[in-house]
Amino acid sequence: MNHTCNKCGKNITYGTKYHLCRECYEKEKFKEIPSKETLQEYLKTMYILKKQNGNIRVTDIANKMNCSKPSVNKAINNLKANSLVNYETYGTIELTDER
Ligand SMILES: [Zn+2]
Repeated sequence: MNHTCNKCGKNITYGTKYHLCRECYEKEKFKEIPSKETLQEYLKTMYILKKQNGNIRVTDIANKMNCSKPSVNKAINNLKANSLVNYETYGTIELTDER
């Protein structure tokens, strides 16, 4: 059975969620989560952790926000893509704007 991507119209031979090709699906997924409000919460939490501990770690954010490490990573990568934080995998997180 053949499908076409809902975004770009490319033929896809496999079924992905939302009927998108892999490229479009990855883009949508990235756009979709997390919300702007959630990202702001993350930034706030990171700012507090920086004040309290002098550094920001994924584990501490997960504990403080009561969420899983993968969702923290997702949020951080999103913030990183928007140049709001500096983050090297397995390193500490730096806020780019601490005002
Ligand atoms: Zn597509």
